[in-house]
Amino acid sequence: MRADLHVHSNASDGTDPPAEVMRRAARAGLDVVALTDHDTVAGHAQARQALPGSLILVPGMELSCRLDGPSRGQPGRGVPRGPSPRGQQSLHLLAYLFDPDDPELAAETRRIRDDRVLRARAMVDRLVGLGVPITWDDVAAIAGAAVVGRPHIARAMAASGAIASPAQAFTPDWIADGGRAYVGRYALDPVRAIALVRSAGGVAVLAHPRADRALLVDDTQIADLAAAGLAGVEVFHPDQPESEQASLLGLTRDLGLVATGGSDDHGSLTGHRIGSHTAAAGAYESLISQATGAKPVHGG
Ligand SMILES: [Zn+2]
Ligand SMILES: [Zn+2]
Repeated sequence: MRADLHVHSNASDGTDPPAEVMRRAARAGLDVVALTDHDTVAGHAQARQALPGSLILVPGMELSCRLDGPSRGQPGRGVPRGPSPRGQQSLHLLAYLFDPDDPELAAETRRIRDDRVLRARAMVDRLVGLGVPITWDDVAAIAGAAVVGRPHIARAMAASGAIASPAQAFTPDWIADGGRAYVGRYALDPVRAIALVRSAGGVAVLAHPRADRALLVDDTQIADLAAAGLAGVEVFHPDQPESEQASLLGLTRDLGLVATGGSDDHGSLTGHRIGSHTAAAGAYESLISQATGAKPVHGG
């Protein structure tokens, strides 16, 4: 059995529609494919409809997490969090076979998707807290139909007289990366994300923990996530060197976790090719045996 448990469609940042991803999965000789778009299940319905008879679809999602938890403080509570000493340690969590209608999980993924607006609003709140006389309406009016971002906030700041020109907003005093009013992208605390996935009947797998040199998830951190209910680790991934795959495989054995694999195919966006990396049949079976929120979909 060949199971690629990590592919993207144009429901997130892949280039192919879900139906085409399913056809490519079948052409690549896969038996099982998991559609794991970033923070959305929007591609599942089309993938289901287009599923070739030879293929099993595992409905999934790749959740955006941050190891230090959301960087955004609650308005009026606590001190704005600066950049952590390790930087923003992004982490991706693959979720499989959860109930797609689970209200809490759906609300969190919607929040991640809506983040650009939330993030801009949070920066405005921080600026107001720092005495800058702007409002959200000022910023929204400047942005118009565009997706709101820091340049619009900078223009509102200049229009208010708080700074002489928009460029002056991009300093540590204001909204430069790590600045006093800077707010990072919203992401879930992974321990919370694991709990959300589990309470929606799904299973959570840590995606590519050694794929990016700058964002390594170390053994202790993985052990902590295992204690929080993580089901598995994506061991076989095109961006993880073989030496790392070997050490992760040992770690999953020590921790009693499932060792999974996937290509992280994004269509023509990256060089990753569907079916290039796969999970063993036993890994696939172990995951589905732990899930209660949804069942794999058989084609044909
Ligand atoms: Zn990822
Ligand atoms: Zn991915």
